[in-house]
Amino acid sequence: MMNRTFIEDKLKEHGYKLTNQRKAIIDVLVEHQGHFLSAEEIYSKSKDKYAQTNFSTIYRNLEILVNTHIIHKTQIKDGTFSYELVCSEAHHHHLICKGCGKTENIDFCPIEDLQKKLGSKNFTLTDHKFELYGYCQKCQEDQ
Ligand SMILES: [Zn+2]
Ligand SMILES: [Zn+2]
Ligand SMILES: [Zn+2]
Repeated sequence: MMNRTFIEDKLKEHGYKLTNQRKAIIDVLVEHQGHFLSAEEIYSKSKDKYAQTNFSTIYRNLEILVNTHIIHKTQIKDGTFSYELVCSEAHHHHLICKGCGKTENIDFCPIEDLQKKLGSKNFTLTDHKFELYGYCQKCQEDQ
């Protein structure tokens, strides 16, 4: 799990300062580990912590956090991106709840098997995404 010191060091390593706005965003993400949040949710929760938080810079800051591998970005619903603190440095995949954004790690990678089968395709695979969508227990009970 990532803590604030680790995140701060990682930003510094890439030449980024921990501004008040970034600090507010990171605090929100740390408090919601294990859940994907939309940019709008991150914005409104960050605003509670740091009132000057500006929506126009939220996306830029989220992109910086994605590029420095501090957060994961994914598209659970069409047209909206969701963000979560990176849960493990090791290669892993996610189960994601479409209702509340709750996520769980799966450390099993189905692509390794597939890659063997693709051996004859003359294609060099450099990276991949694999996510499973559905409803968590709580959201199933609420339906
Ligand atoms: Zn993860
Ligand atoms: Zn759920
Ligand atoms: Zn994989």
